[in-house]
Amino acid sequence: MIEKKAFEIKEKLIDVRRKLHKVPETDFEEVKTAKIIRDYLSELKIPFKECAKTGTVALIEGKNSKKTILLRADIDGLPIKDESEFEIKSEREGYMHACGHDIHTACLLGVSEILNSMRDKLNGNVKLVFQPAEEGIGGALTMIEEGVLENPKVDGAFALHVEPLIPTGTIQIKNGSIMASPDDFKIVVHGVGGHASAPEKCVNPVTIGCDIINEYEKLNSTVLKDAPCVMTVCYFNGGTCNNAIPQSAEIMGTARSLDSETREMIADLLEKTAIDTAKKHGTTVDFTFNRLFPPVVNSSEMNEIVAAAAKKLDCVKNIEELKKPSMAGDDFSYFCERVPGAYFRLGVGDGKNSYPIHSPKFIADENALWVGSALMAQAAVEFLNK
Ligand SMILES: [Zn+2]
Ligand SMILES: [Zn+2]
Repeated sequence: MIEKKAFEIKEKLIDVRRKLHKVPETDFEEVKTAKIIRDYLSELKIPFKECAKTGTVALIEGKNSKKTILLRADIDGLPIKDESEFEIKSEREGYMHACGHDIHTACLLGVSEILNSMRDKLNGNVKLVFQPAEEGIGGALTMIEEGVLENPKVDGAFALHVEPLIPTGTIQIKNGSIMASPDDFKIVVHGVGGHASAPEKCVNPVTIGCDIINEYEKLNSTVLKDAPCVMTVCYFNGGTCNNAIPQSAEIMGTARSLDSETREMIADLLEKTAIDTAKKHGTTVDFTFNRLFPPVVNSSEMNEIVAAAAKKLDCVKNIEELKKPSMAGDDFSYFCERVPGAYFRLGVGDGKNSYPIHSPKFIADENALWVGSALMAQAAVEFLNK
């Protein structure tokens, strides 16, 4: 029933995805995107509310309100120039849907159409969340602060993400951590500037910065070697010319971890190492650890529901268990911190192209749209019937 309905709306989903693809927008400015979403829901007479400015929350009330499942699609694009060979181009210069969020959005609109047509049979409510700003400042937390998990209270959440490197019909699931916390750090090394000919009268922040970077690399080969994290120094800048010692130098990098204990451990360790190394040289640093999103940690019960739903669908040919998590981040983690959640990967590879997400050449097989809708809808039904 669900699969049949999904297949019936296949062309409609391609059409709405193409509309979204033309207007990539970011960071709570997804105005045209929100209009496309709201027009689609209005046509189906599904009630919705605005949330977090350009976000939209729709509700399909089932025959009872025993449980509520939240389904989330992120809706934003990226500031990347479209260089793909796809027949439909971004109409906004310098911006592109290179992470496939237009596909997530179209899939969720498909879910809304499928489940709305069977709402009298639904054993609970379905909350459809179209979330802005995932790529940049993050929209999930704003939506939560504006009450997306209440009225009716949400009991579980699902989200999918496209994966162009696996074929349409394949999905990837994983218990536990599937995405990292994409945190970053910045160090300002304080020195005492002066003439390069008299280093004894100065404190050189360039050499001290190098020492800090060396100490960090030692951490990578010792304490952090087998820890579930990645720490990379990506930026070092100090000085303006060859004959003056500068007043300060700056180091920046990323520190990504897969669980909150490691996250706190690495934040403390980096801070202490930078402070202690600077102290050895008689100076100080300003250390900032910028916590972005928490890691996405899947619930195994919710994962089982996704797998059970997938097994019921002929369009899902292959369920792969992911061996390793990705070290990228996704703010769906904020939902998973509050309710049991599962985030899975939907294959959108067409067998010809193999550009990863965030590539300016990203291309997706649109046959995956109805597969994604069918799977999300089936997973919602399985959750409510459990
Ligand atoms: Zn992305
Ligand atoms: Zn993404």
